[in-house]
Amino acid sequence: MGSGAGGGTLAARLAESGRSVVLLEAGGDPRQLRGGDPVDPEGNRLPDDYDVPAFHGFASENDAISWDFFVRHYASEARQRLDLKYRESWEGRRVEGVLYPRAGTLGGCTAHNAMIMLYPHDADWDGIAGLTGDPSWNAEHMRTYFRKLENCHHRWPYRLLSKIGIDPTGHGWKGWLHTEKAIPESMLDDPALIKMIEKTAFEIIRRLGDPITRAQRLVKGQLDLNDGRLVRQNAVGVGYMPLTTRHHARMGSRERVLDTARRYPDRLKLELNALATRVLLDEGNRARGVEYLRGDRLYRASRRPSDGPGELRRVHTSREVILAGGAFNTPQLLMLSGIGPRETLRRHGIEVRVDLPGVGQNLQDRYEVSVVNRMRFEHWEVLKGATFAKGDPHYRRWTAGGKGVYATNGSILGVVTRSTPTMPLPDLFCLALLGKFQGYFPGYSRALVDYLNYLSWTIVKGHTNNRAGEVTLRSADPRETPAINFRYFEEGNDTRGEDLDAVVAAVKFVRALTRGIQTDGLVGEEEVPGKDVQTDEEIREFARNHAWGHHASCTCAIGPRERGGVLGSDFRVHGTQGLRVADASVFPRIPGFFIVSAVYMIGEKAADVILTHA
Ligand SMILES: Cc1cc2nc3c(=O)[nH]c(=O)nc-3n(C[C@H](O)[C@H](O)[C@H](O)COP(=O)(O)OP(=O)(O)OC[C@H]3O[C@@H](n4cnc5c(N)ncnc54)[C@H](O)[C@@H]3O)c2cc1C
Repeated sequence: MGSGAGGGTLAARLAESGRSVVLLEAGGDPRQLRGGDPVDPEGNRLPDDYDVPAFHGFASENDAISWDFFVRHYASEARQRLDLKYRESWEGRRVEGVLYPRAGTLGGCTAHNAMIMLYPHDADWDGIAGLTGDPSWNAEHMRTYFRKLENCHHRWPYRLLSKIGIDPTGHGWKGWLHTEKAIPESMLDDPALIKMIEKTAFEIIRRLGDPITRAQRLVKGQLDLNDGRLVRQNAVGVGYMPLTTRHHARMGSRERVLDTARRYPDRLKLELNALATRVLLDEGNRARGVEYLRGDRLYRASRRPSDGPGELRRVHTSREVILAGGAFNTPQLLMLSGIGPRETLRRHGIEVRVDLPGVGQNLQDRYEVSVVNRMRFEHWEVLKGATFAKGDPHYRRWTAGGKGVYATNGSILGVVTRSTPTMPLPDLFCLALLGKFQGYFPGYSRALVDYLNYLSWTIVKGHTNNRAGEVTLRSADPRETPAINFRYFEEGNDTRGEDLDAVVAAVKFVRALTRGIQTDGLVGEEEVPGKDVQTDEEIREFARNHAWGHHASCTCAIGPRERGGVLGSDFRVHGTQGLRVADASVFPRIPGFFIVSAVYMIGEKAADVILTHA
């Protein structure tokens, strides 16, 4: 169930290896659907919203594929309302939360994500190996799954050398998922942008440790943050953004699933518009199949949910049921099937099949905030004439050969650093974006078209300490969304406040990176947080009210049952047979800086485990 980064990857690998797979996916094919977005609400912006890398923000608001969850960051109503992104109602529904975009479509969130493919930290995998005592999770072994899935196109010399067996980079060269870098030539004609990059690079060189080590790393890694040698050293520094694109058009699990279904039509049956509502368990809690509703937009997170009843169907399995609905939907479906915290299930009149308190607990995410600068000029030269629509000069350049600024996801560079020198791992990722971006709220992507003269430094705080978030049932109706509360900062369990301090350090860091272009007069004004937010306490309050996340995970964590775990190290749900989970919910701790690489790897590993056990 679920065709996203975890489920699509897994289903394809199993089918390719000879298994018969039925893949249930709640949504339709995003390249076949028609849907508007904030640029053209009444028109059809597909398949461009899907294909064009620079349109990923619009994809996340395209009404044919969006699942809009409204989540709480805080239980406290007073605290929650201080966030300007909070909405009481939306599209005639009472939502009382902050928009958390998800994609209910073939490919899951790989159909609208920003395509950034960043390898997680080795410690993330070694941590699971330590927790479970299962050495197959160690970092060295996990690299093999990355190599298996990646088809790297951004380290050309090594791509050639790999053919004669020389490959120190740890990249994969023959996998199904293409990774590319996009650096538009037109950047060279944008003096402000060049100056911005120069000044930022200078400041980074000044700040990030010993210059000789960094020079050595630069020669080795060539700004590739996924180079295995740098990953092994937990290196800090600057790099470009590797994207999951093929010929500079989006690529994700949709392409993998469709290609496999085309090659093995007898083995991979794709059932679209199929909302799984319950896992069918026999007397001994062995999963025997899945009940689902067939129909369009049946889930109420859809932008325009259907009132129709859907058609109730069942699929029976001879071997296993594997759930990959993502960090919100997988725990919801487990609970709807009677697997979860006893009290929650009873409250909603659901028969308790397995009392598993960890289901839906341990929800984790990054904390993200942006420092948003309005530049003094009218537009970046690289964005001149951009309307983010068919026919503008950039669109023509992209269609003619995947070139230009639309081949990028809007990010110019990324910086990895530590919030304090004593942090065991780098915990901050700072991303420079040519646009006005300050988190998700309905219509947020419109700003990307309306403002062509902004520089946003988006901060991603990795390895957050807070693990107090929760996904729980709002109702026993499978078409209803679950209740989600991340319990940010003081409401969570990061008792020492390290997460919040790290965000403060990051805001100061990116402000320092911007100082050079401020002195040169390129910046008109820092709009967010703005000049009135200066002291640590002011920045803390800014973070409490502005932070967001978009890598929800860890809600069906691998780990011992008595310590809140939901899954064994082989992805099996405790207390059941023939039932596994393979998506972003399996992690005990949120990995790396950008999660999708780790979720794709989970899909590959789960397939390997299933095939080996069979
Ligand atoms: C706006 C946005 C941008 C992002 N950008 C990046 C990025 O650049 N880099 C990065 O690393 N990460 C990014 N992410 C996160 C990343 O894409 C996701 O974490 C990842 O795709 C999660 O994979 P998954 O398999 O757990 O779930 P998903 O990819 O969400 O897939 C779940 C699938 O299950 C289906 N489903 C759910 N419930 C049911 C049901 N009951 N019945 C049938 N089907 C069901 C859904 O329709 C969906 O297709 C982004 C996320 C968002 C929201």
